[in-house]
Amino acid sequence: MTVEETIFSKIIRKEIPATIVYESDKVLAFRDIYPKAPVHILVIPKKVISGVSSARPEDKELLGELLLVAAELATKEGIDKSGYRLVVNDGKDAGQAVDHLHVHILGGREMEWPPG
Ligand code: 5GP
Repeated sequence: MTVEETIFSKIIRKEIPATIVYESDKVLAFRDIYPKAPVHILVIPKKVISGVSSARPEDKELLGELLLVAAELATKEGIDKSGYRLVVNDGKDAGQAVDHLHVHILGGREMEWPPG
């Protein structure tokens, strides 16, 4: 593991188990180990990007793919009609715990606003 890698790199390399629900050459999606909603999936780029604030202009297409995959998975999970929330935490105040960019898909229950 190089310094910037996280547990998510191990999941990408299948070195540790995860319930993978989508995989392409650039994107991986798997169920969150501690789900905060009936549906809780993480969509990540396979490329190591520590957070959205570290993304670069050349990542534009990849960032778009993360959202499109998230919407596709929400439909597949049957939460597109009831609604769902996509969350990207960045940095300490947002509570980002894993420094590998990820989009949370949360759904299957009513969400509160504003988030805590
Ligand atoms: P963050 O707080 O960084 O936005 O979210 C990180 C998420 O990754 C958390 O919801 C946490 O439950 C999840 N997570 C952390 N480690 C693992 C793991 O090893 N496997 C899976 N599937 N999820 C993880």
